[in-house]
Amino acid sequence: MANTLSFTFIALLIITTATRIWLGRRHIAYVQAHRKEVPAAFNSTISLEAHQKAADYSSAKTRLVISEASAQAILLALLTIGGGLQLIDNFWREILATQEIARGALVIVSAMIVSSLIDIPFDYYKTFTVDEKFGFNKMTRSMFFSDMVKHAIVGVLLGAPILFAALWLMQGAGEYWWFYLWIVWSVFNLLMLAVYPTFIAPMFNKFTPLQDESLKQRIEALLVKCGFKSQGLYVMDGSARSSHGNAYFTGFGASKRVVFFDTLLERLNPDEIEAVLAHELGHFRHHHVIKRIALMFFVSFIGLALLGWLMNQDWFYAGLGITQTSDYMALLLFLLVSPVFLFLLRPFMASYSRKNEFEADDYAAKHADAKYLVEALVKLYRDNASTLTPDPLHSAFYDSHPPASIRISKLAAYTS
Ligand SMILES: [Zn+2]
Repeated sequence: MANTLSFTFIALLIITTATRIWLGRRHIAYVQAHRKEVPAAFNSTISLEAHQKAADYSSAKTRLVISEASAQAILLALLTIGGGLQLIDNFWREILATQEIARGALVIVSAMIVSSLIDIPFDYYKTFTVDEKFGFNKMTRSMFFSDMVKHAIVGVLLGAPILFAALWLMQGAGEYWWFYLWIVWSVFNLLMLAVYPTFIAPMFNKFTPLQDESLKQRIEALLVKCGFKSQGLYVMDGSARSSHGNAYFTGFGASKRVVFFDTLLERLNPDEIEAVLAHELGHFRHHHVIKRIALMFFVSFIGLALLGWLMNQDWFYAGLGITQTSDYMALLLFLLVSPVFLFLLRPFMASYSRKNEFEADDYAAKHADAKYLVEALVKLYRDNASTLTPDPLHSAFYDSHPPASIRISKLAAYTS
C-alpha cells in the first residue's frame, strides 16, 4: 500500500522533527553559553540573577518542546501509516454503517481527541512543574482541568456546526463544494472575531472596566490622538492563571476593545503603559490584523482547493494508511498531515511577523515616547523571564517578536 506519498510524508516528518529537535538543542546551548553575563546593553537594567532565571526558564521550556515534538511525530506516524485512523474508522463503521455524515463527525472528533490527549501531560508538566518552579503558575489543579473541560465544550459547540457544514457540502454540493466551504469558513471566522471578545473570552477570564481615572484619561487622549474609537478599556484578571503580563487590542468593528492584563498594570507606570498601547495601536494602524485575516483566507482557499483535488486521488488515502476512502477521511488526513508540509514555511511567517513588530514599534515611537517603550519592554522581558540571548537560528524559525537586543537598539535610535 505504501507509495511515493508515504515515503515523502515520512521523510518530511523525520526532517521537520529532527529540525525542531536540532533547533531546540542549539537554543539551549546558546542560552546556557551566555548565561554567565548580562548582555552589555542590559547591564544597568537587568540583574545577573534575573538573566540567569531567564536562561534556565527558556532552557526548561525548550526541553519540553523537544519532547513534545518527538511524541507528536510518533503519534502522527502511528495514526496515519501505522493504521490508527483506519482502526478508528473501522470501529465507527461497525456502529454506524450508513449515516456517513454522522460517522464522519464521530471519526474526526475521535481522532482529534486522541491527538490532543498527548498534549495534556505536556501542558500539565509545563504549568505545574516548569512554571511553578519559576514562580509563574497561579493555577490550581482543579482550574487546569475545568479550563480543559470548558475548552472542550466551547470547541465542540463552535466546531460542530462548521464540521457538519463541511461534511454535508463535501457529500452533496458537487465539484465546487470546497469553494462553498471556503465561504462558510470565512464567514464563520469573521463572526468569531466579532463574538470572541464579548462572549467567549469572558468564559475564561473576568473583564472589568478600567477604574484608574487618570490612566483612563491618558489612554483616551492617546486613542483620540491616534484616531481610534474603542468600545471601552478593560482589565483582565490574567493574574488568576499566570503572572506573565500582556496587553492587547481585540475584536474589530463595533466590538473593538482594549484589554490590559492586571499583571501589566501592576508593573508598568502610566508612561510605559501608554507606550505599550501605542505599539498595539500601531498594529491596527498598519492593518496588521486585516492583513493577517486576508492571508488566512488566501491560505484556506488554496488549502481547500487542494483538498478538493486530493479527495479524488486514491494514492492520497493509500499513501497515508487508509484502505477505505471517504470524504471525512480526506478532510481528517488533510488537517493532520498538512502542518508537516507547512513547517518549512515557518521562518517566512515568523520573519513577516517580526517585520510587523518593527512597524508597530516605529508607530509607538512616533506617537508615544520610545524611551518608555524600551523601559516597558525591559520590565516585561525581566518579569516574564524571556531570554535576552536567543539562538539566532531558533529565533528565525520561531520568534514572532524580534530578539530584545535588536528591538531595543532600534527603539533607542529614536530617543538619541
Ligand atoms: Zn506587537
